[in-house]
Amino acid sequence: MKIFCVGRNYADHAKELGNAVPEEPVIFMKPKSALLLSNAPFYYPEFTNELHYETEVVLRICKNGRYVGEYDAHEYYDAFTIGIDFTARDIQAELKKKGLPWEKAKAWDNSAIIGKWIPFTPELREKPILFSLQKNKELVQSGNTSDMIFPFDVIVAHVSQYFSLNIGDLIYTGTPAGVGECVTNDVLEGFYQNEKIFSLEIK
Ligand code: MG
Repeated sequence: MKIFCVGRNYADHAKELGNAVPEEPVIFMKPKSALLLSNAPFYYPEFTNELHYETEVVLRICKNGRYVGEYDAHEYYDAFTIGIDFTARDIQAELKKKGLPWEKAKAWDNSAIIGKWIPFTPELREKPILFSLQKNKELVQSGNTSDMIFPFDVIVAHVSQYFSLNIGDLIYTGTPAGVGECVTNDVLEGFYQNEKIFSLEIK
């Protein structure tokens, strides 16, 4: 199983971190060990002093493929959830400054959170997904997939030009503006519209 992530897919978020809006999808990966198993505790990692949440819509790949076209990319994902791409922002800033790879900031154990899956119906595929994150019951991020620079089908097609897609792979599709810090004892809750999709306490 592979975990693909899209960086800078919402213009407002690219701006808040001082990044240019990309001309093609920015793709990075997390290993399988990054996925927090359901009901497992999440511990604040020892190596960072600036843990950031990034709330994202996550797609579930349901069909094996390579060189997928945008016109049939929708056949390759069958469900979505809301998740967190946890980021050690202090480490990422250091690595970016030196032009080094991001893995130590992004790909560590348990850095990928997912909630419960929502199967796509034909109607759901046509509608933008409204999602949000509450930290300690306060709204801190809200997103609308119609604001994505690269929509789902473009991302899936693009990823498949470089990597095979396999059943069970995940794609984190980018975070909207409002990323921020979280600390021990914070409770993060992800929502699709008004429905709670996950709840996570930082231990
Ligand atoms: Mg992200």
